Amino acid sequence: MGKVYLVGAGPGDPELLTLKAVRVLEEADVVLYDRLVCEEILSYTKPGCRLVYVGKEDGKHTLPQEEINRLLVYYAGIYDNVVRLKGGDPFVFGRGGEEALYLMEHGIACEIVPGISSAYSVPAYAGIPVTFRGLASSFAIVTGHEAVGKRKSVDWRAFKDVDTLVVLMGVRNRQRIATELIKFGRNPNEPVAFIERGTTPEQRVVVSTLREVSTDPPEVNPPAVMVVGKVVGLHERLREFLENLKQTGEGVYHA
Ligand code: SAH
Repeated sequence: MGKVYLVGAGPGDPELLTLKAVRVLEEADVVLYDRLVCEEILSYTKPGCRLVYVGKEDGKHTLPQEEINRLLVYYAGIYDNVVRLKGGDPFVFGRGGEEALYLMEHGIACEIVPGISSAYSVPAYAGIPVTFRGLASSFAIVTGHEAVGKRKSVDWRAFKDVDTLVVLMGVRNRQRIATELIKFGRNPNEPVAFIERGTTPEQRVVVSTLREVSTDPPEVNPPAVMVVGKVVGLHERLREFLENLKQTGEGVYHA
């Protein structure tokens, strides 16, 4: 019986892979990868390594999670080294926990290789530190995917007093999210940034305010990280200065 590695591929820039992720990829017999994993990262695999795409489009689940779980068990039965490669970090909205539990229940050895999550690295590449002395001493990461109003949805009240709020998978519901945040007491003038395809050459930054996102949301395409909080104001100041921002998009500026 083989072993399954749940590996974080980082946010997109291949240089943000960990050394451990590269080593595990080099040894892999099969790699099951997601939509958010860039092609270049797959080139670290050895010749003959089997590459299996199991990506899910937002909303369109091409492969249900149960099917992915079953595939991991199946490949562990025929190969020594099975890699499940996910965007960012496997345990940050990556369903890595569920996969680990499933493998455990099936008696399959499993190792977790954390990755750099988009939640803070994508803002970083846009010149937005998620914490900043005097401006932000807390940050929270929340999913925007669970539609507002659904029975098991996120309680947006909980984020009233968090300094920096990072919303993943929030593009589609951005208007409703901003509306909820204002309703529960966040300042409508608070700046909001959307960073599309962060850390890649296609990175684009859109800056707005909560009020504007709630009334006339700017055009944004997924995947994007939504950041709410004062630290967004540092984007303007740091973008001139940070080297890796030079190659990224100019962005669209509202507000
Ligand atoms: N496990 C991942 C998150 C998976 S949820 C991680 O730790 O980063 C998928 C969401 O992550 C997307 O909807 C988007 O909000 C965000 N995301 C991932 N990569 C991104 C990138 N390069 N640029 C912008 N957002 C990204």
